[in-house]
Amino acid sequence: MNDQDLITITIDDKEVRVPKGTNIIEAAAKIGVEIPHYCYHPKLSVVGNCRMCLVEMGMPMKDRATGEAILDDQGQPKIGWMPRPTIACATAAIPGIHIRTNTPLIQDCRNGVMEFLLINHPLDCPICDQAGECRLQEFAMDYGRGFSRFIEQKVVKPKRTVLGPRVMLDDERCILCSRCVRFCQEVAKDDVLGFTDRGSFTTLTCHPGKELANNYSLNTVDICPVGALTSTDFRFKMRVWFLKETRSICTESSVGANTEIGSREGKIYRITPRRNDAVNDTWMADSGRPLYKGVEAESRLKNVTVDQLQSDFATAVEKAAAFLNGGKVAVVGSGQSSVEEQFLLKALAAAAKAKSVDLVAHIAEGDGLLISADRTPNTRGALVTGLIKALPKAELGPLAQAIADGSVDTLLVVGEDLTQAGIDADLLKKINLIYIGTHTHATAEAAKVVLPSLTVFEKNGSFINQQFRLQTFEAAVPGLAGAVDDLVILGTLMGKLTDTEVPSTTTAVWTRMAEEVSALARLSYARIPHDGTIIEAGPLADLPFPEGNTLHFEARQPVGV
Ligand code: SF4
Repeated sequence: MNDQDLITITIDDKEVRVPKGTNIIEAAAKIGVEIPHYCYHPKLSVVGNCRMCLVEMGMPMKDRATGEAILDDQGQPKIGWMPRPTIACATAAIPGIHIRTNTPLIQDCRNGVMEFLLINHPLDCPICDQAGECRLQEFAMDYGRGFSRFIEQKVVKPKRTVLGPRVMLDDERCILCSRCVRFCQEVAKDDVLGFTDRGSFTTLTCHPGKELANNYSLNTVDICPVGALTSTDFRFKMRVWFLKETRSICTESSVGANTEIGSREGKIYRITPRRNDAVNDTWMADSGRPLYKGVEAESRLKNVTVDQLQSDFATAVEKAAAFLNGGKVAVVGSGQSSVEEQFLLKALAAAAKAKSVDLVAHIAEGDGLLISADRTPNTRGALVTGLIKALPKAELGPLAQAIADGSVDTLLVVGEDLTQAGIDADLLKKINLIYIGTHTHATAEAAKVVLPSLTVFEKNGSFINQQFRLQTFEAAVPGLAGAVDDLVILGTLMGKLTDTEVPSTTTAVWTRMAEEVSALARLSYARIPHDGTIIEAGPLADLPFPEGNTLHFEARQPVGV
Protein backbone atom coordinates (compact mmCIF):
# COMPACT_ATOMS: atom_id res chain seq x y z
CA MET A 1 0.00 0.00 0.00
CA ASN A 2 1.34 3.44 -0.97
CA ASP A 3 1.94 6.03 1.68
CA GLN A 4 -0.56 8.38 -0.02
CA ASP A 5 -3.28 5.77 0.59
CA LEU A 6 -2.73 6.11 4.34
CA ILE A 7 -4.44 8.56 6.63
CA THR A 8 -3.19 10.04 9.89
CA ILE A 9 -5.11 9.54 13.10
CA THR A 10 -4.13 10.28 16.69
CA ILE A 11 -4.31 7.69 19.46
CA ASP A 12 -3.32 8.71 22.98
CA ASP A 13 -1.58 11.78 21.55
CA LYS A 14 0.53 9.69 19.16
CA GLU A 15 0.04 9.97 15.43
CA VAL A 16 -0.34 6.76 13.44
CA ARG A 17 -0.66 6.25 9.66
CA VAL A 18 -3.17 3.56 8.69
CA PRO A 19 -5.37 2.73 5.71
CA LYS A 20 -8.70 4.54 5.82
CA GLY A 21 -11.34 2.31 7.46
CA THR A 22 -8.94 0.42 9.72
CA ASN A 23 -10.73 -0.32 12.93
CA ILE A 24 -9.35 1.41 15.98
CA ILE A 25 -8.27 -1.82 17.76
CA GLU A 26 -5.95 -2.66 14.84
CA ALA A 27 -4.77 0.93 14.46
CA ALA A 28 -3.87 1.15 18.15
CA ALA A 29 -2.02 -2.18 17.96
CA LYS A 30 0.26 -0.62 15.34
CA ILE A 31 1.70 1.74 17.96
CA GLY A 32 1.75 -0.89 20.69
CA VAL A 33 -1.46 0.21 22.43
CA GLU A 34 -3.64 -2.74 23.40
CA ILE A 35 -7.34 -2.02 23.51
CA PRO A 36 -8.86 -4.92 25.50
CA HIS A 37 -11.60 -6.85 23.72
CA TYR A 38 -13.42 -10.16 23.83
CA CYS A 39 -15.88 -10.40 20.94
CA TYR A 40 -13.69 -8.74 18.33
CA HIS A 41 -11.56 -11.13 16.28
CA PRO A 42 -9.58 -9.87 13.28
CA LYS A 43 -10.86 -12.66 11.04
CA LEU A 44 -14.55 -12.51 11.97
CA SER A 45 -17.32 -9.97 11.44
CA VAL A 46 -17.64 -7.19 13.99
CA VAL A 47 -20.61 -7.43 16.36
CA GLY A 48 -19.56 -5.13 19.19
CA ASN A 49 -21.41 -6.98 21.92
CA CYS A 50 -18.83 -7.31 24.73
CA ARG A 51 -18.33 -3.50 25.17
CA MET A 52 -14.82 -4.06 26.52
CA CYS A 53 -13.12 -1.98 23.81
CA LEU A 54 -14.76 1.32 24.69
CA VAL A 55 -12.64 4.38 23.86
CA GLU A 56 -13.17 8.12 23.74
CA MET A 57 -13.42 9.61 20.27
CA GLY A 58 -13.12 13.18 19.07
CA MET A 59 -12.55 15.32 15.99
CA PRO A 60 -10.79 18.67 15.55
CA MET A 61 -13.39 21.43 16.00
CA LYS A 62 -14.20 23.82 13.20
CA ASP A 63 -15.88 27.17 13.12
CA ARG A 64 -19.24 26.53 11.50
CA ALA A 65 -19.34 29.90 9.83
CA THR A 66 -15.83 29.97 8.37
CA GLY A 67 -14.86 26.29 8.35
CA GLU A 68 -11.58 27.30 10.03
CA ALA A 69 -10.06 25.09 12.72
CA ILE A 70 -10.71 26.28 16.26
CA LEU A 71 -7.45 26.49 18.19
CA ASP A 72 -6.82 26.08 21.89
CA ASP A 73 -4.66 28.31 24.13
CA GLN A 74 -1.48 26.70 22.80
CA GLY A 75 -2.51 27.26 19.20
CA GLN A 76 -3.30 23.60 18.66
CA PRO A 77 -6.57 22.39 17.06
CA LYS A 78 -9.23 22.03 19.74
CA ILE A 79 -10.70 18.52 19.88
CA GLY A 80 -14.43 18.08 20.29
CA TRP A 81 -14.77 14.89 22.32
CA MET A 82 -17.98 12.87 22.08
CA PRO A 83 -19.86 12.95 25.40
CA ARG A 84 -20.03 9.13 25.58
CA PRO A 85 -17.44 6.45 24.80
CA THR A 86 -17.63 4.40 21.63
CA ILE A 87 -16.56 0.82 20.81
CA ALA A 88 -13.18 0.71 19.06
CA CYS A 89 -13.91 -2.50 17.12
CA ALA A 90 -16.73 -0.88 15.16
CA THR A 91 -15.10 2.53 14.75
CA ALA A 92 -13.30 3.06 11.48
CA ALA A 93 -10.31 5.33 11.13
CA ILE A 94 -11.12 8.56 9.30
CA PRO A 95 -8.69 11.43 8.66
CA GLY A 96 -8.02 13.52 11.75
CA ILE A 97 -9.90 11.32 14.25
CA HIS A 98 -8.59 11.45 17.83
CA ILE A 99 -8.86 8.49 20.22
CA ARG A 100 -8.18 8.23 23.94
CA THR A 101 -7.85 4.72 25.31
CA ASN A 102 -6.89 5.21 28.92
CA THR A 103 -8.84 8.07 30.50
CA PRO A 104 -10.62 7.78 33.88
CA LEU A 105 -13.92 7.43 32.00
CA ILE A 106 -12.57 4.51 29.96
CA GLN A 107 -11.02 2.84 32.99
CA ASP A 108 -14.37 3.13 34.74
CA CYS A 109 -16.16 1.59 31.72
CA ARG A 110 -13.77 -1.38 31.58
CA ASN A 111 -14.09 -1.83 35.29
CA GLY A 112 -17.87 -1.98 34.91
CA VAL A 113 -17.77 -4.44 32.01
CA MET A 114 -15.44 -6.71 33.97
CA GLU A 115 -17.72 -6.59 36.98
CA PHE A 116 -20.72 -7.61 34.87
CA LEU A 117 -18.80 -10.44 33.19
CA LEU A 118 -17.64 -11.83 36.52
CA ILE A 119 -21.01 -11.68 38.30
CA ASN A 120 -22.03 -15.17 37.22
CA HIS A 121 -18.62 -16.49 36.28
CA PRO A 122 -17.75 -19.58 38.36
CA LEU A 123 -14.17 -18.34 39.04
CA ASP A 124 -12.93 -21.92 38.76
CA CYS A 125 -9.55 -20.86 37.34
CA PRO A 126 -7.59 -23.51 39.32
CA ILE A 127 -9.22 -26.30 37.30
CA CYS A 128 -9.81 -24.41 34.07
CA ASP A 129 -7.83 -25.43 30.97
CA GLN A 130 -7.79 -21.83 29.77
CA ALA A 131 -5.98 -20.60 32.87
CA GLY A 132 -2.74 -19.02 31.73
CA GLU A 133 -4.12 -17.95 28.36
CA CYS A 134 -7.52 -16.59 29.45
CA ARG A 135 -8.48 -13.06 28.45
CA LEU A 136 -10.93 -12.86 31.34
CA GLN A 137 -8.13 -13.66 33.79
CA GLU A 138 -5.77 -11.20 32.13
CA PHE A 139 -8.25 -8.33 31.93
CA ALA A 140 -9.47 -9.01 35.47
CA MET A 141 -5.88 -8.35 36.54
CA ASP A 142 -5.58 -5.25 34.35
CA TYR A 143 -9.02 -3.68 34.67
CA GLY A 144 -10.91 -5.59 37.37
CA ARG A 145 -12.02 -4.26 40.72
CA GLY A 146 -10.12 -6.91 42.71
CA PHE A 147 -13.09 -7.83 44.86
CA SER A 148 -16.72 -8.76 44.29
CA ARG A 149 -19.71 -6.74 45.43
CA PHE A 150 -22.06 -9.55 44.37
CA ILE A 151 -23.55 -11.39 47.32
CA GLU A 152 -26.50 -13.04 45.56
CA GLN A 153 -26.64 -16.60 44.22
CA LYS A 154 -24.81 -17.06 40.92
CA VAL A 155 -26.80 -18.44 37.99
CA VAL A 156 -26.03 -22.14 37.60
CA LYS A 157 -25.65 -23.49 34.07
CA PRO A 158 -24.57 -26.83 32.53
CA LYS A 159 -20.87 -27.54 33.18
CA ARG A 160 -20.12 -30.42 30.80
CA THR A 161 -22.13 -30.08 27.61
CA VAL A 162 -20.87 -32.17 24.71
CA LEU A 163 -21.17 -29.92 21.67
CA GLY A 164 -19.52 -32.39 19.34
CA PRO A 165 -16.98 -35.19 19.21
CA ARG A 166 -14.06 -32.88 19.95
CA VAL A 167 -15.51 -29.90 21.80
CA MET A 168 -16.89 -29.65 25.32
CA LEU A 169 -18.77 -26.60 26.68
CA ASP A 170 -18.80 -25.23 30.20
CA ASP A 171 -21.73 -22.81 29.94
CA GLU A 172 -21.03 -21.05 33.22
CA ARG A 173 -17.72 -19.75 31.85
CA CYS A 174 -19.20 -18.44 28.59
CA ILE A 175 -19.20 -14.63 28.31
CA LEU A 176 -21.51 -14.70 25.26
CA CYS A 177 -19.00 -13.05 22.96
CA SER A 178 -20.37 -15.07 20.00
CA ARG A 179 -16.95 -15.67 18.43
CA CYS A 180 -17.69 -19.39 18.17
CA VAL A 181 -21.11 -18.74 16.64
CA ARG A 182 -19.66 -16.40 14.02
CA PHE A 183 -16.77 -18.74 13.26
CA CYS A 184 -19.16 -21.56 12.46
CA GLN A 185 -21.31 -19.32 10.28
CA GLU A 186 -18.62 -17.34 8.51
CA VAL A 187 -15.57 -19.58 8.21
CA ALA A 188 -16.67 -23.21 8.64
CA LYS A 189 -19.99 -22.46 6.87
CA ASP A 190 -21.70 -24.77 9.34
CA ASP A 191 -24.36 -22.74 11.15
CA VAL A 192 -24.70 -24.96 14.19
CA LEU A 193 -24.26 -22.80 17.31
CA GLY A 194 -26.60 -20.21 18.81
CA PHE A 195 -27.92 -18.77 22.07
CA THR A 196 -31.13 -19.64 23.91
CA ASP A 197 -32.91 -17.88 26.78
CA ARG A 198 -32.33 -14.30 27.86
CA GLY A 199 -30.33 -12.10 30.19
CA SER A 200 -28.21 -13.93 32.75
CA PHE A 201 -29.80 -17.19 31.65
CA THR A 202 -28.57 -16.90 28.05
CA THR A 203 -26.96 -20.21 27.13
CA LEU A 204 -24.80 -21.28 24.21
CA THR A 205 -26.07 -24.43 22.56
CA CYS A 206 -26.22 -26.34 19.29
CA HIS A 207 -29.31 -25.85 17.17
CA PRO A 208 -31.81 -28.69 17.68
CA GLY A 209 -30.67 -31.92 16.06
CA LYS A 210 -27.22 -30.54 15.21
CA GLU A 211 -23.77 -30.98 16.70
CA LEU A 212 -20.47 -29.16 16.37
CA ALA A 213 -18.75 -31.83 14.33
CA ASN A 214 -17.29 -30.03 11.32
CA ASN A 215 -13.59 -30.49 10.60
CA TYR A 216 -12.82 -26.98 11.89
CA SER A 217 -14.67 -27.25 15.21
CA LEU A 218 -11.53 -26.97 17.37
CA ASN A 219 -10.90 -23.44 16.10
CA THR A 220 -13.82 -22.40 18.32
CA VAL A 221 -11.78 -23.64 21.29
CA ASP A 222 -8.78 -21.60 20.10
CA ILE A 223 -10.74 -18.36 19.75
CA CYS A 224 -12.95 -18.72 22.82
CA PRO A 225 -11.46 -15.96 24.98
CA VAL A 226 -12.33 -17.84 28.16
CA GLY A 227 -12.38 -21.52 29.15
CA ALA A 228 -15.96 -22.17 28.04
CA LEU A 229 -14.97 -24.31 25.08
CA THR A 230 -12.35 -26.97 25.65
CA SER A 231 -10.82 -29.66 23.48
CA THR A 232 -11.74 -33.17 24.60
CA ASP A 233 -8.26 -34.27 23.54
CA PHE A 234 -6.32 -31.63 25.52
CA ARG A 235 -8.75 -31.14 28.44
CA PHE A 236 -7.10 -31.57 31.85
CA LYS A 237 -3.87 -32.94 30.32
CA MET A 238 -1.43 -30.08 30.94
CA ARG A 239 -1.27 -26.56 32.34
CA VAL A 240 -0.59 -24.32 29.37
CA TRP A 241 2.18 -22.32 31.02
CA PHE A 242 4.34 -25.43 31.09
CA LEU A 243 4.09 -25.90 27.34
CA LYS A 244 7.03 -25.06 25.12
CA GLU A 245 5.80 -23.60 21.83
CA THR A 246 7.51 -24.61 18.61
CA ARG A 247 6.76 -23.33 15.11
CA SER A 248 5.71 -26.03 12.68
CA ILE A 249 3.75 -26.74 9.50
CA CYS A 250 0.74 -29.03 9.14
CA THR A 251 1.65 -31.98 6.93
CA GLU A 252 -1.92 -32.91 6.13
CA SER A 253 -1.97 -31.32 2.68
CA SER A 254 -0.18 -28.93 0.36
CA VAL A 255 -1.83 -25.92 2.05
CA GLY A 256 0.89 -25.97 4.71
CA ALA A 257 -1.15 -24.42 7.51
CA ASN A 258 1.17 -22.77 10.03
CA THR A 259 0.99 -24.44 13.42
CA GLU A 260 2.39 -24.29 16.91
CA ILE A 261 3.37 -27.44 18.75
CA GLY A 262 2.80 -27.42 22.50
CA SER A 263 5.19 -29.81 24.24
CA ARG A 264 6.68 -30.43 27.65
CA GLU A 265 9.68 -32.55 28.54
CA GLY A 266 9.81 -34.30 25.18
CA LYS A 267 6.09 -35.04 24.94
CA ILE A 268 3.64 -33.25 22.64
CA TYR A 269 0.28 -32.28 24.10
CA ARG A 270 -1.41 -30.25 21.39
CA ILE A 271 -1.15 -28.63 18.00
CA THR A 272 -2.79 -25.24 17.49
CA PRO A 273 -2.85 -22.91 14.49
CA ARG A 274 -0.27 -20.14 14.11
CA ARG A 275 -1.37 -16.95 12.38
CA ASN A 276 -0.27 -16.51 8.80
CA ASP A 277 -2.63 -14.28 6.85
CA ALA A 278 -1.25 -15.47 3.53
CA VAL A 279 -1.82 -19.17 4.24
CA ASN A 280 -4.30 -20.07 6.94
CA ASP A 281 -5.34 -16.87 8.69
CA THR A 282 -5.63 -18.08 12.29
CA TRP A 283 -7.24 -21.46 11.54
CA MET A 284 -6.37 -25.10 10.99
CA ALA A 285 -8.35 -28.28 10.36
CA ASP A 286 -9.22 -30.61 13.26
CA SER A 287 -7.85 -33.56 11.32
CA GLY A 288 -4.33 -32.10 11.40
CA ARG A 289 -4.28 -31.73 15.18
CA PRO A 290 -3.88 -35.35 16.29
CA LEU A 291 -0.99 -35.99 13.88
CA TYR A 292 1.44 -35.62 16.79
CA LYS A 293 0.16 -38.94 18.11
CA GLY A 294 2.21 -40.61 15.40
CA VAL A 295 5.34 -39.77 17.40
CA GLU A 296 4.49 -42.28 20.11
CA ALA A 297 2.40 -44.66 17.98
CA GLU A 298 2.80 -48.41 18.46
CA SER A 299 3.61 -48.72 14.77
CA ARG A 300 6.68 -46.47 15.09
CA LEU A 301 9.88 -48.00 13.73
CA LYS A 302 12.39 -48.11 16.57
CA ASN A 303 15.06 -50.53 15.46
CA VAL A 304 17.55 -50.59 12.63
CA THR A 305 17.18 -53.98 10.95
CA VAL A 306 19.14 -55.93 8.37
CA ASP A 307 17.45 -59.00 6.91
CA GLN A 308 14.64 -58.52 9.45
CA LEU A 309 17.10 -58.85 12.37
CA GLN A 310 17.93 -56.01 14.73
CA SER A 311 21.21 -54.43 13.74
CA ASP A 312 23.17 -51.21 14.21
CA PHE A 313 23.29 -48.09 12.09
CA ALA A 314 26.83 -48.60 10.73
CA THR A 315 26.14 -52.19 9.61
CA ALA A 316 22.83 -51.23 8.02
CA VAL A 317 24.34 -48.30 6.13
CA GLU A 318 27.19 -50.53 4.97
CA LYS A 319 24.70 -53.08 3.67
CA ALA A 320 22.48 -50.46 2.03
CA ALA A 321 25.48 -48.82 0.34
CA ALA A 322 26.57 -52.23 -0.97
CA PHE A 323 23.09 -52.75 -2.46
CA LEU A 324 23.09 -49.30 -4.05
CA ASN A 325 26.63 -49.66 -5.38
CA GLY A 326 26.33 -51.57 -8.60
CA GLY A 327 22.71 -52.61 -8.29
CA LYS A 328 20.01 -51.89 -10.83
CA VAL A 329 18.63 -49.12 -8.67
CA ALA A 330 15.32 -47.29 -8.49
CA VAL A 331 14.32 -44.68 -5.90
CA VAL A 332 10.93 -43.72 -4.47
CA GLY A 333 10.90 -40.45 -2.55
CA SER A 334 8.18 -38.85 -0.51
CA GLY A 335 6.07 -35.72 -0.61
CA GLN A 336 6.27 -35.83 3.20
CA SER A 337 10.04 -35.34 3.10
CA SER A 338 11.50 -31.88 3.60
CA VAL A 339 13.05 -29.86 0.79
CA GLU A 340 16.50 -30.61 2.24
CA GLU A 341 15.85 -34.37 2.34
CA GLN A 342 14.53 -34.36 -1.21
CA PHE A 343 17.63 -32.51 -2.37
CA LEU A 344 19.95 -35.05 -0.72
CA LEU A 345 17.85 -37.95 -2.05
CA LYS A 346 18.23 -36.58 -5.56
CA ALA A 347 22.00 -36.46 -5.12
CA LEU A 348 21.98 -39.98 -3.71
CA ALA A 349 19.88 -41.25 -6.64
CA ALA A 350 22.40 -39.72 -9.03
CA ALA A 351 25.33 -41.27 -7.14
CA ALA A 352 23.63 -44.69 -7.29
CA LYS A 353 22.92 -44.17 -11.00
CA ALA A 354 19.24 -44.80 -10.34
CA LYS A 355 17.19 -45.79 -13.38
CA SER A 356 14.13 -44.00 -12.08
CA VAL A 357 13.05 -41.68 -9.28
CA ASP A 358 9.37 -41.66 -8.38
CA LEU A 359 7.10 -39.97 -5.92
CA VAL A 360 3.70 -41.35 -4.99
CA ALA A 361 0.76 -38.96 -5.40
CA HIS A 362 -1.74 -38.87 -2.55
CA ILE A 363 -4.81 -37.23 -3.95
CA ALA A 364 -8.22 -36.87 -2.34
CA GLU A 365 -10.97 -34.31 -2.49
CA GLY A 366 -10.05 -30.86 -1.18
CA ASP A 367 -12.45 -29.05 1.15
CA GLY A 368 -12.01 -25.57 -0.32
CA LEU A 369 -10.62 -24.35 2.97
CA LEU A 370 -7.39 -25.64 4.48
CA ILE A 371 -7.22 -29.16 3.08
CA SER A 372 -6.18 -29.33 -0.54
CA ALA A 373 -6.47 -32.23 -2.98
CA ASP A 374 -2.72 -32.98 -2.69
CA ARG A 375 -2.43 -34.65 0.70
CA THR A 376 1.30 -34.16 0.97
CA PRO A 377 3.02 -31.00 2.22
CA ASN A 378 5.93 -30.98 -0.18
CA THR A 379 5.29 -32.36 -3.65
CA ARG A 380 6.34 -28.97 -4.99
CA GLY A 381 9.61 -29.27 -3.07
CA ALA A 382 10.40 -32.46 -4.99
CA LEU A 383 9.84 -30.59 -8.25
CA VAL A 384 11.80 -27.50 -7.22
CA THR A 385 14.82 -29.52 -6.06
CA GLY A 386 14.66 -31.59 -9.25
CA LEU A 387 14.09 -34.88 -7.45
CA ILE A 388 11.23 -35.51 -9.89
CA LYS A 389 10.57 -33.90 -13.23
CA ALA A 390 6.79 -34.37 -13.60
CA LEU A 391 3.75 -34.57 -11.37
CA PRO A 392 3.66 -37.88 -9.51
CA LYS A 393 1.06 -40.57 -10.02
CA ALA A 394 -0.80 -42.59 -7.40
CA GLU A 395 0.17 -45.97 -8.93
CA LEU A 396 3.72 -47.02 -9.74
CA GLY A 397 2.87 -49.48 -12.55
CA PRO A 398 6.08 -48.99 -14.58
CA LEU A 399 8.23 -49.54 -11.47
CA ALA A 400 6.30 -52.72 -10.62
CA GLN A 401 6.92 -53.89 -14.20
CA ALA A 402 10.63 -53.06 -13.98
CA ILE A 403 10.94 -55.08 -10.74
CA ALA A 404 9.00 -57.97 -12.28
CA ASP A 405 11.15 -58.14 -15.41
CA GLY A 406 14.40 -57.81 -13.45
CA SER A 407 15.49 -54.41 -14.78
CA VAL A 408 15.33 -53.11 -11.18
CA ASP A 409 16.80 -55.25 -8.42
CA THR A 410 17.50 -52.60 -5.77
CA LEU A 411 14.95 -50.16 -4.45
CA LEU A 412 15.44 -47.28 -2.03
CA VAL A 413 12.14 -46.15 -0.56
CA VAL A 414 11.55 -43.14 1.70
CA GLY A 415 8.38 -43.11 3.75
CA GLU A 416 5.97 -44.75 1.32
CA ASP A 417 4.11 -48.03 1.56
CA LEU A 418 4.42 -49.17 -2.03
CA THR A 419 1.78 -51.89 -1.58
CA GLN A 420 -0.68 -48.96 -1.55
CA ALA A 421 0.76 -47.76 -4.85
CA GLY A 422 0.19 -50.96 -6.81
CA ILE A 423 3.36 -52.94 -6.05
CA ASP A 424 2.77 -56.35 -4.56
CA ALA A 425 4.54 -57.18 -1.25
CA ASP A 426 5.79 -60.49 -2.71
CA LEU A 427 7.45 -58.58 -5.53
CA LEU A 428 9.14 -56.28 -3.02
CA LYS A 429 10.51 -59.24 -1.07
CA LYS A 430 12.39 -60.47 -4.14
CA ILE A 431 14.62 -57.41 -4.44
CA ASN A 432 17.14 -55.56 -2.31
CA LEU A 433 14.78 -53.15 -0.66
CA ILE A 434 16.10 -50.36 1.57
CA TYR A 435 13.47 -48.55 3.58
CA ILE A 436 13.89 -45.20 5.36
CA GLY A 437 10.82 -44.15 7.32
CA THR A 438 9.03 -43.59 10.59
CA HIS A 439 6.30 -46.23 10.82
CA THR A 440 5.98 -49.87 9.92
CA HIS A 441 3.82 -51.24 7.13
CA ALA A 442 4.01 -53.91 4.42
CA THR A 443 6.88 -52.20 2.57
CA ALA A 444 8.96 -51.77 5.74
CA GLU A 445 8.33 -55.41 6.58
CA ALA A 446 9.52 -56.50 3.13
CA ALA A 447 12.74 -54.46 3.33
CA LYS A 448 16.18 -56.05 3.69
CA VAL A 449 17.48 -52.90 5.36
CA VAL A 450 15.29 -50.69 7.54
CA LEU A 451 16.58 -47.33 8.77
CA PRO A 452 14.11 -45.69 11.22
CA SER A 453 13.93 -41.92 10.77
CA LEU A 454 12.35 -38.89 12.46
CA THR A 455 8.85 -37.46 12.25
CA VAL A 456 8.28 -33.83 11.32
CA PHE A 457 7.95 -33.06 15.03
CA GLU A 458 11.50 -34.22 15.76
CA LYS A 459 13.55 -32.42 13.13
CA ASN A 460 14.09 -29.10 11.35
CA GLY A 461 13.40 -28.47 7.71
CA SER A 462 11.25 -26.75 5.14
CA PHE A 463 8.30 -27.46 2.83
CA ILE A 464 7.06 -25.69 -0.27
CA ASN A 465 3.29 -25.31 -0.20
CA GLN A 466 0.65 -24.97 -2.90
CA GLN A 467 1.48 -21.28 -3.41
CA PHE A 468 5.18 -22.14 -3.81
CA ARG A 469 5.66 -20.59 -0.40
CA LEU A 470 8.77 -21.93 1.31
CA GLN A 471 8.04 -22.43 5.01
CA THR A 472 10.15 -23.86 7.81
CA PHE A 473 9.36 -26.18 10.69
CA GLU A 474 11.38 -26.83 13.82
CA ALA A 475 11.98 -29.79 16.10
CA ALA A 476 9.54 -29.72 19.01
CA VAL A 477 10.74 -32.86 20.79
CA PRO A 478 13.92 -34.96 20.69
CA GLY A 479 14.02 -37.84 18.22
CA LEU A 480 12.88 -41.28 19.32
CA ALA A 481 15.70 -43.49 20.61
CA GLY A 482 16.85 -45.67 17.71
CA ALA A 483 15.63 -43.30 15.01
CA VAL A 484 18.09 -41.20 13.01
CA ASP A 485 17.59 -37.86 11.25
CA ASP A 486 16.79 -38.47 7.57
CA LEU A 487 19.52 -36.03 6.53
CA VAL A 488 22.09 -38.03 8.50
CA ILE A 489 20.89 -41.29 6.93
CA LEU A 490 20.95 -39.89 3.40
CA GLY A 491 24.23 -38.03 3.94
CA THR A 492 25.95 -41.09 5.40
CA LEU A 493 24.73 -43.31 2.55
CA MET A 494 25.89 -40.74 0.03
CA GLY A 495 29.27 -40.47 1.75
CA LYS A 496 29.70 -44.26 1.49
CA LEU A 497 28.79 -44.24 -2.18
CA THR A 498 30.91 -41.31 -3.24
CA ASP A 499 33.68 -41.46 -0.68
CA THR A 500 33.22 -37.77 0.02
CA GLU A 501 32.10 -35.62 2.91
CA VAL A 502 28.38 -34.95 2.44
CA PRO A 503 26.47 -32.24 4.33
CA SER A 504 23.93 -33.72 6.70
CA THR A 505 22.60 -30.77 8.68
CA THR A 506 19.81 -28.49 7.53
CA THR A 507 22.09 -25.45 7.36
CA ALA A 508 24.87 -27.26 5.52
CA VAL A 509 22.44 -28.75 2.98
CA TRP A 510 21.06 -25.26 2.40
CA THR A 511 24.49 -23.95 1.53
CA ARG A 512 24.71 -26.60 -1.20
CA MET A 513 21.09 -26.13 -2.33
CA ALA A 514 21.38 -22.36 -2.66
CA GLU A 515 24.26 -22.95 -5.09
CA GLU A 516 22.62 -25.68 -7.17
CA VAL A 517 18.87 -24.91 -7.17
CA SER A 518 18.17 -21.65 -8.96
CA ALA A 519 14.77 -21.10 -7.28
CA LEU A 520 16.50 -21.21 -3.89
CA ALA A 521 19.51 -19.08 -4.81
CA ARG A 522 20.46 -16.36 -2.34
CA LEU A 523 18.45 -18.06 0.41
CA SER A 524 19.61 -19.78 3.53
CA TYR A 525 17.64 -21.68 6.13
CA ALA A 526 18.17 -18.97 8.73
CA ARG A 527 16.91 -16.25 6.37
CA ILE A 528 13.53 -17.84 5.64
CA PRO A 529 10.94 -15.65 7.43
CA HIS A 530 8.67 -17.27 10.00
CA ASP A 531 5.69 -16.72 7.72
CA GLY A 532 7.55 -18.16 4.74
CA THR A 533 8.62 -16.66 1.44
CA ILE A 534 7.29 -17.17 -2.07
CA ILE A 535 9.92 -18.64 -4.39
CA GLU A 536 10.27 -18.19 -8.12
CA ALA A 537 8.72 -21.38 -9.51
CA GLY A 538 9.12 -20.59 -13.23
CA PRO A 539 7.51 -23.16 -15.55
CA LEU A 540 6.73 -25.44 -12.59
CA ALA A 541 3.87 -23.13 -11.67
CA ASP A 542 2.15 -24.10 -14.93
CA LEU A 543 1.98 -27.81 -14.12
CA PRO A 544 -1.58 -29.10 -13.69
CA PHE A 545 -1.52 -29.64 -9.93
CA PRO A 546 -4.62 -31.41 -8.62
CA GLU A 547 -5.61 -28.46 -6.46
CA GLY A 548 -4.60 -25.82 -9.00
CA ASN A 549 -1.90 -23.31 -8.33
CA THR A 550 -3.80 -20.67 -6.46
CA LEU A 551 -4.66 -20.23 -2.83
CA HIS A 552 -7.99 -21.92 -2.25
CA PHE A 553 -8.45 -20.44 1.17
CA GLU A 554 -9.52 -16.83 0.91
CA ALA A 555 -7.83 -15.05 3.76
CA ARG A 556 -10.11 -12.62 5.50
CA GLN A 557 -8.33 -9.40 6.29
CA PRO A 558 -9.46 -7.15 9.09
CA VAL A 559 -11.20 -4.07 7.66
CA GLY A 560 -8.69 -1.76 6.05
CA VAL A 561 -5.61 -3.76 7.02
FE1 SF4 B 1 -17.61 -16.66 23.29
FE2 SF4 B 1 -16.52 -18.92 24.23
FE3 SF4 B 1 -19.04 -18.26 24.88
FE4 SF4 B 1 -18.45 -19.04 22.37
S1 SF4 B 1 -18.30 -20.28 24.23
S2 SF4 B 1 -19.75 -17.30 23.00
S3 SF4 B 1 -16.42 -18.17 22.10
S4 SF4 B 1 -17.19 -17.16 25.44
